[in-house]
Amino acid sequence: MGRLCQTDGLSEDQQEILKAVRRFVDEKILPVATELEHADEYPQEIVDGLKELGIFGLMIPEEYDGLGESLLTYALCVEEIARGWMSVSGVINTHFIVAYMIMQHGTEEQKQKYLPRMAAGEVRGAFSMSEPGLGSDVSAITTKATKAEDGSYSITGQKMWLTNGGTSTLIALLTKTDEGADSVYRNMTTFLVEKEPGFGEVGQGITIPGKIDKMGYKGVDTTEAIFEGHQIAADQVLGGEPGKGFYQMMDGVEVGRVNVAARACGIALRAFELAIAYAQQRETFGKPIAEHQAIMFRLAEMATKVEAAHTMMVRAAGMKDKGERNDVEAGMAKMLAAEYCNEVVQDSFRIHGGYGYSKEYEIERLYREAAFMLIGEGTSDIQKMIIGRALLKDYKLG
Ligand SMILES: Cc1cc2nc3c(=O)[nH]c(=O)nc-3n(C[C@H](O)[C@H](O)[C@H](O)COP(=O)(O)OP(=O)(O)OC[C@H]3O[C@@H](n4cnc5c(N)ncnc54)[C@H](O)[C@@H]3O)c2cc1C
Repeated sequence: MGRLCQTDGLSEDQQEILKAVRRFVDEKILPVATELEHADEYPQEIVDGLKELGIFGLMIPEEYDGLGESLLTYALCVEEIARGWMSVSGVINTHFIVAYMIMQHGTEEQKQKYLPRMAAGEVRGAFSMSEPGLGSDVSAITTKATKAEDGSYSITGQKMWLTNGGTSTLIALLTKTDEGADSVYRNMTTFLVEKEPGFGEVGQGITIPGKIDKMGYKGVDTTEAIFEGHQIAADQVLGGEPGKGFYQMMDGVEVGRVNVAARACGIALRAFELAIAYAQQRETFGKPIAEHQAIMFRLAEMATKVEAAHTMMVRAAGMKDKGERNDVEAGMAKMLAAEYCNEVVQDSFRIHGGYGYSKEYEIERLYREAAFMLIGEGTSDIQKMIIGRALLKDYKLG
């Protein structure tokens, strides 16, 4: 193990968890990742292994049968997993966000009902804000939940881009509701929607049409979801009170951003490892290419970017763990890690020469995975909006 992506001040427990995850990645993920990814095959054995390691309940409190670990521990595990295969981190990410939202905003009944089964990986979460007509602009949501006289709701609308849409059994779903508030953001409600795993009709008034064929991030299923008069009881409103959905979702997205930053760090680290190994093996003009200064400098720049992204990601996670608002730091970490990840992967690709373009080499997969880091949990443009607005408030002239 090299010197990059080390984290100071970790407890013995954290170090043990990370060691176990790294071993799992080296032994069970890396050897099969590229083959499964090319086949777009769901990594069932890997997912079963992660369940055994307790990863599905890593951050869920011990009183609900989880390991009660911090966001930092979770993010460092995600970094390790994404170093092996980014799609696997996608399998756990939406699950983790939904569990986090229930932990933070759910009623005690909802916590009792879902968290122990989520910790065991029996209930699996998906997170649904995006629609065919919107992603960045959440205020434009059209999926609507209409309240009946008995207090229950009927949900109709179309959702898009549900990571784990097929495999999940619980969707945290953002809808519009009529709360009579003057702001669109206070007229939104999050529902906890239960469904069967699979495709087609997976519940009363719920259809998951099939997997979206993607450029990368394969293996994990990403789907649409269609709701046609789905009947749901009022006690499935997250936190029991309508009108709070937007804020609950944004809280979830904030930890999701740390998670995507961690994924980008993992991909970048792997791209660096591949490049530095290849550069010592490949010879041109009578010596290993690593001995050409242009390549050595490129490796030095790549490693520096990996370290910078890791450091910012760790800081953003640590702030949330201390109970501080980390919207700016999570946005900065996500933006920087995603942009650097793409640059580092591109550099590793160049170092591989023509072989980087062959599907036999891992860098081809990382190249496609890196692109998604620029989009998921908010594009770099959206991160800049969040960071810029907060800074203007903070540094407002007297
Ligand atoms: C593989 C995959 C998995 C996903 N999983 C999920 C999921 O599980 N749950 C979920 O809810 N969503 C998910 N998404 C959706 C994802 O969050 C959105 O794609 C993302 O937020 C961008 O939204 P959009 O695609 O609608 O782009 P748009 O919002 O249409 O943006 C298009 C372009 O315009 C730019 N832009 C938009 N507004 C501004 C502005 N004000 N100023 C400057 N530039 C702007 C954007 O940066 C982008 O470059 C997933 C997407 C993908 C591809």
